[in-house]
Amino acid sequence: MSAVAKQTGIAAPAGVVGHYIEGRRVTGAGTRRSPVYNPARGQVVREVVLADAADVDAAVQSAAAAQAGWGRTPALQRARVLFRFKELISQHAKLIAATLSEEHGKTLADAEGEVTRGMEVVEFACGAPQLLKGEFSESVGTGVDCYGMRQPLGVVAGITPFNFPAMVPMWMFPVALACGNAFILKPSERDPSVSLMLAELLQQAGLPDGVFSVVQGDKAAVDAILEHPGIAAVSFVGSTPIARYIQSQAVLHGKRVQALGGAKNHAVIMPDADLDAATEALVGAAYGSAGERCMAISVAVAVGEATADALIDKLKKRVAALKVGAPDGAGVDMGPLVNDAARLRVRGYIEGGLAEGAALLVDGRGVSVPGCEQGFYVGPTLFDRVRPDMRIYREEIFGPVLSVVRVADYAGAMKLVNSHEFANGAAVFTRSGAVAHAFSRDVEIGMVGINVPIPVPMAFHSFGGWRNSLFGDHHMHGPEGVRFYTRLKTVTQRWPEPEAVRADFSMPTMK
Ligand code: NAD
Repeated sequence: MSAVAKQTGIAAPAGVVGHYIEGRRVTGAGTRRSPVYNPARGQVVREVVLADAADVDAAVQSAAAAQAGWGRTPALQRARVLFRFKELISQHAKLIAATLSEEHGKTLADAEGEVTRGMEVVEFACGAPQLLKGEFSESVGTGVDCYGMRQPLGVVAGITPFNFPAMVPMWMFPVALACGNAFILKPSERDPSVSLMLAELLQQAGLPDGVFSVVQGDKAAVDAILEHPGIAAVSFVGSTPIARYIQSQAVLHGKRVQALGGAKNHAVIMPDADLDAATEALVGAAYGSAGERCMAISVAVAVGEATADALIDKLKKRVAALKVGAPDGAGVDMGPLVNDAARLRVRGYIEGGLAEGAALLVDGRGVSVPGCEQGFYVGPTLFDRVRPDMRIYREEIFGPVLSVVRVADYAGAMKLVNSHEFANGAAVFTRSGAVAHAFSRDVEIGMVGINVPIPVPMAFHSFGGWRNSLFGDHHMHGPEGVRFYTRLKTVTQRWPEPEAVRADFSMPTMK
């Protein structure tokens, strides 16, 4: 252990996972609890407290009191806290990854990758002084200068999904804090522990108490956040029905909102694609994290029958050989789903696909992991000859199911991708520069991959989809994140010459 790691320390909560308010773990006023599972074994490992409105209010009061000073702290000093935080996360990355893997079920390697991607947003936010530099126009009129500055919103909140308990909160709070806001995190109640570890590392990095809080909970906590007049903005990531609800309620209560929703990401496989590379890309993107990623590829669009037949031939063998197991097991490609409801939902989709006439080539329903018989597993599943009218095509399954749709030509593929309700990510596999260029220009999707299956933008770009994958105007992190967490103030200044200035009753113009 390094010197800093010895002085600091974090531990996964034992027994009951509480809130984090005013710089410490508290159980709060709410009396309801929810079980937290280890999905690999199907066992309850902890309980999480569920906040009521009084807990949310306590967090908002604490945050509002702390934000005044934090917002006035020079951006460079705020950045220094984030630099230290980044260093602390690096030192504790394995523990954070192991804790989130235990509660989520993703493999350890995948969990470590998640922590790294979150950390990259912290690195971006360390540029706060540069990111917050305003604009200045000298002499917009005689003796008049004009400048704009971006100021914090105040207290802001983030509501996050179960599938990235470290990374998605880190899409939000590093940027919000760098911009001078206080942040209240409402993590998923299914894997809540990591939120407390991040809170403690922020405190150890020097963040003043109250600037970052965690309120655990479910709909009651979310509604209290949406209705609280002391919260200026809400960032949300989760499923589309809830994203739509969050946006409408936040707007109703006068808040700024960005709400990222569900996805159904297509990969178009052109006849000239390197099929071995495309197969590897598809398998990783469809089945990694058991398909519980908003950027998972769940539809492969094969252009032409020959492409489809060759692709299916390769996919079938590769998918059937994937190793399902406990996330800490050697050589495991994918772990369980997050809970039994998810397992049953995904099995239901597989049965529905069969009933609607799709060709089930690899069936994940029979999978069993020795020693983990109670775990929430569904094995990798592959369908061919999926049609756009089928539920397995239209709806987000959020599990390890890949559907192959056959189309005649590129135009048919483009029409398919652009007609889907969701528009988070899409990829094309081709050797043609012309096709790649046309695809990136014409596809109506928020994030696009050219021979890249999961095109998650780096932290200094922004993340977000189109259509029913995002409600609100701003994508997350990168420049869009800075704009979301700040409001613009424009100052026009004149220092009068000694002679008197006379009142002017016409519309001011810069004479
Ligand atoms: P979810 O919508 O069920 O939950 C997300 C958050 O909303 C959680 O904090 C939860 O407590 C809260 N919530 C749940 N039901 C609520 C209700 N009725 N009222 C108010 N709040 C409620 O999503 P999930 O199952 O945790 O995560 C999976 C979903 O998230 C998938 O649809 C996935 O595509 C989506 N997702 C999207 C992105 C993206 O960037 N677009 C990223 C990750 C996950």
